[in-house]
Amino acid sequence: MADELKTSERFPDPAKTIAQFSVLETWGKSAGGNPIYAKRFTSGDRRVLFIGGVHGNETEGVAATLGFFNEFIAGDKIPATGSDLLFIPVLSPDGFLACSRHNGNAVDLNRNMATKDWKKNERGEKYYSGPAANSEPETQLLLRVLEEFKPGFILSLHSWKPMFNVNGPAHVYAEKMRSQLAYEITEDIGYPTPGSLGTYAGWERQIPTITFEIERGLPLAEVYPTVRGALLAVL
Ligand SMILES: [Zn+2]
Repeated sequence: MADELKTSERFPDPAKTIAQFSVLETWGKSAGGNPIYAKRFTSGDRRVLFIGGVHGNETEGVAATLGFFNEFIAGDKIPATGSDLLFIPVLSPDGFLACSRHNGNAVDLNRNMATKDWKKNERGEKYYSGPAANSEPETQLLLRVLEEFKPGFILSLHSWKPMFNVNGPAHVYAEKMRSQLAYEITEDIGYPTPGSLGTYAGWERQIPTITFEIERGLPLAEVYPTVRGALLAVL
């Protein structure tokens, strides 16, 4: 069952989707030279980092950040979530544009962070971790955000088997999300993830981090209505 997960639905025009986010700020450039959009919305003290599109082929995550964007940000509505929210809707524009897990250097960005167990995989592999830890501009942007913004909670959207993957002391957040969406809560995604954000920030730095695995294959139009309550419970 778990191995038979449907592939993600593609956005018909990913360039147009990305362009919607250009009303945010440009915080960096991807390996392929595409802008990485982000913006901080402050309506309280809780510093929350909200990221989508680390893996560009997991389009459910971008459907969710896009839904949030459309409801709260487009048209100059500032999300009054009571938090100090840093929103990065698509960390890997290269991957999103190509509907690929990898950035423009063929790197899996969720294997590129300098965790203690960082492991070099070869180019061409699904989990290619890059020539060195932190080699990729997307990872460097994320590191800068961790060091300067200092999030107290991180929510990163992916898609796979539906679950709230808890990294570090994030159980309280997972329970809040599960009160809105009946997904499994687990600390163990089922395989090692050296170089991942969850390992780097959650386990090694004890920043509560949820890797939100949205059900893969969910029709894009259904994603935001499905996850909205869970997102708003913690953002
Ligand atoms: Zn992923």
